[in-house]
Amino acid sequence: MFDKVLIANRGEIALRVLRACKELGIKTVAVHSKIDSNLKHVRLADESVCIGPNPSPKSYLNVPAIISAMEITDSVAVHPGYGFLAENADFAEQVQKSGFTFIGPDPETIRTMGDKVAAIAAMRKAGVPTVPGSDGPLPEDREECMAIAKRIGYPIIIKAAAGGGGRGMRVVHTEAALVNAIQLTKTEAGTIFGDDCVYMEKFLLNPRHVEVQVMSDGQGNAVHLGDRDCSLQRRHQKVLEEAPAPGIPADVRDACATSCVQACIDIGYKGAGTFEFLYENGGFYFIEMNTRIQVEHPVSEMVTGIDLIKEQIRVCSGEKLSITQADVKIQGHSFECRINAEDPVTFMPCPGKIDTFHAPGGLGIRVDSHIYSGYTVPPTYDSMIAKIISYGDTREEALTRMRNALDEIVISGIRTNIPLQKDLVRDEAFKQGCVNIHYLEKKLGM
Ligand code: ADP
Repeated sequence: MFDKVLIANRGEIALRVLRACKELGIKTVAVHSKIDSNLKHVRLADESVCIGPNPSPKSYLNVPAIISAMEITDSVAVHPGYGFLAENADFAEQVQKSGFTFIGPDPETIRTMGDKVAAIAAMRKAGVPTVPGSDGPLPEDREECMAIAKRIGYPIIIKAAAGGGGRGMRVVHTEAALVNAIQLTKTEAGTIFGDDCVYMEKFLLNPRHVEVQVMSDGQGNAVHLGDRDCSLQRRHQKVLEEAPAPGIPADVRDACATSCVQACIDIGYKGAGTFEFLYENGGFYFIEMNTRIQVEHPVSEMVTGIDLIKEQIRVCSGEKLSITQADVKIQGHSFECRINAEDPVTFMPCPGKIDTFHAPGGLGIRVDSHIYSGYTVPPTYDSMIAKIISYGDTREEALTRMRNALDEIVISGIRTNIPLQKDLVRDEAFKQGCVNIHYLEKKLGM
């Protein structure tokens, strides 16, 4: 096991990683920007290093500064959390070249999964169900492109192979608009991502977002930890997640999860990962793999009782997976509400000083957050300040506990999206389960 781990992140996930390290008896190093010296995990870490000024390119994305911090603190491994450098293959490679361990998959795997065309090809090979589409990049010839679109059937979506963050995508409804749309997406992809490779997929009209959590040791052992439904999204940002995804037949769910496990073994995957799918009319369609721990991982922890970060650290230190598929029992139900420092109506970020913070509690309530009374939310970073996670024997019990937790929580001094979350957990359609990815935006009148 590692002797000392550097946590290359901030906020709640840095604290979450620190807690896992402490349980494993690993010493911790926090790195932070100037404004972040008061973060909870910085106070709790064994050591801390200021790695630069506030803008993330100068601190949390500053690779030489992070590697230097590893050197001067004698850290042996780095946990990237999510966001920032978590899916940056060049960073993972630099870490390796400097003689340290990156807690995540190999740089090559990160690179392959970052290229959507390569990722889809790898998944097809492993038997993971994908969206009907072009087999790889679109050809130059316009007639050929038209033939592919005709075969798939309109509407279709043109996507950049290097795309991410919801950018580099264009929906096409008619053949007349096709050639122009391909050209536009190509130009855009070249400008934004430096790679103008595009491909084509069937555009699914009313899918749900369902994802499968996996853990793999890169030594031939892999398991899945069930699925999560993250369909409540605004501008491709997840707002409220749950596990397991409701209303999916057991055989369909199992077949999909089993194919993900097979894919992990096929590609020699190491660490925690998520296969993201669109789910429509009883079918799963792979869209992308995230090669890191995700924000919503706690709901999977609640229904499996497995600490995903500890297991991730273990397998990345070279240990074999400590669990088999038979050990993973999905029990009960869990929800996660993301609490953001933002205006509940306009969604504009609302940084500032938190005068009072009272966390909710009770059986089946977990709060993953770095905030405290007197903490100032800086304007510089992501606006998520807390995750409220509920657990219950049934979906209904977990939802009731979440409603009560949202009624209990107090965050004063700044505006938050708690009013929106309170509304969502009382929403009739959501209470029934199975709303699709457009539901929230429609509800908000977007
Ligand atoms: P990114 O990496 O930019 O997030 P994704 O491939 O994950 O891109 O797609 C982002 C979102 O775009 C999906 O969550 C979904 O809402 C929508 N989307 C992508 N592909 C399709 C598709 N084939 N049909 C319908 N919606 C899609």
